[in-house]
Amino acid sequence: MDYSKVLQEIKEEIATFKNTGKVATYIPELGKVDPSKFGVYLQCTDGNGYGLGDSLDCFSIQSISKVLSLALALKLKGKEVWKRIGVEPSGDPFNSLVQLEYEKGIPRNPFINAGALVVADILISELENPKEDLLQFVRNIAEDQSVEYDEKVAASEMEHKFRNASLTHLMKDFGNIKNNVDDVLDFYFHQCSIAMNCKQLTQAFTIFLNYGKYDLSKEAAVLDPILAKRINALMLTCGFYDESGEFAFTVGLPGKSGVGGGIVALHPRHYSVAVWSPPLNKNGNSELGMKVLELLTTKTEISVF
Ligand code: GLU
Repeated sequence: MDYSKVLQEIKEEIATFKNTGKVATYIPELGKVDPSKFGVYLQCTDGNGYGLGDSLDCFSIQSISKVLSLALALKLKGKEVWKRIGVEPSGDPFNSLVQLEYEKGIPRNPFINAGALVVADILISELENPKEDLLQFVRNIAEDQSVEYDEKVAASEMEHKFRNASLTHLMKDFGNIKNNVDDVLDFYFHQCSIAMNCKQLTQAFTIFLNYGKYDLSKEAAVLDPILAKRINALMLTCGFYDESGEFAFTVGLPGKSGVGGGIVALHPRHYSVAVWSPPLNKNGNSELGMKVLELLTTKTEISVF
């Protein structure tokens, strides 16, 4: 497959795309990002990589981090994790409190905020130096030691923590948060603030390719194949807020989006791909990012279906 040609064709096709999305402003620091930024990077399993636009500019990965923190929690705790978090799509917005009440503090899945907060709680309990250790894990799988937290974004989220704080307090009341609520929020806001570019993200997500066996040189980071399979299934069913069905329908790949405008998707046997365009549609997914990935699977005729 000539991916370089496919990306060029996509670039030409989106030149006239009318973007009706809006950059997220509920985290004020994210609202400062230039809405015209646009990057794509595609990393193939044969080792070749293809970049377009601002693919080497770092941005706030936000909810994309939920896949990486889950991978680490599963490596450390295995099936135990599923006693505290479900694996069903929620059909509600990512930061909704509604289902938690009647599900007795057990979040529907690890990619809504409630689920990611429980994963954060698990990591705080398991890791010696939680924030340092998570960052080191991400650096290792991205094969880039320059990856950093964006302290300004983390502080901006802490200042506007009210909804995430409500989720954490409610789960604490149900006994599903073991650590101090502020420690959980601090860890979670830091993980969301991680700044990465499209290329680094595609590298990090290679641990989910070929059922976790893609690059054996990442020995410590490589996932048990069964974990990669399960995480891919969760990305497909729960990776796009309450638009996961739409993403499976139009794109047909497992993936995860974040309110920073990034989307990472992958085909387990062919590639991982990251797109970044800050304006979000009404469901919180990058509007142009979704279009680009739809064009990619349409033109290449490669999707998991
Ligand atoms: N840090 C964001 C929040 O908790 C993550 C949201 C997202 O990217 O979905 O609101």
